[in-house]
Amino acid sequence: MTDTSRLPGAFHHHWDWQLRAACRGVDSSLFFPPPDERGDARAERERKAKRVCRRCPVRAECLRHALKARERFGVWGGLGEQERLAMLGRARRERHAASRSSR
Ligand code: SF4
Repeated sequence: MTDTSRLPGAFHHHWDWQLRAACRGVDSSLFFPPPDERGDARAERERKAKRVCRRCPVRAECLRHALKARERFGVWGGLGEQERLAMLGRARRERHAASRSSR
């Protein structure tokens, strides 16, 4: 589940990047997997979603939001679920290593 405590609140300037999203008006089922989707069908849907993200002017903002909110499902900022998890894992390990080296 998305961690809403990490979200910035209701101020529109925190969210107005979404108004410029390349996925506005695109069927959201392209970005979020149906529960029974697997294998090639999943890979193909994600490839299509990421193609939309590649031309998106707010890709960085979208990815920043997804990482901060720990969005678990779907394609955000041009990355799939496993790619975002890997990024978060790397960031956690780097913070851990930095904190150990500063002791
Ligand atoms: S990066 Fe992709 S998911 Fe995010 S706003 Fe842009 S098109 Fe939509």
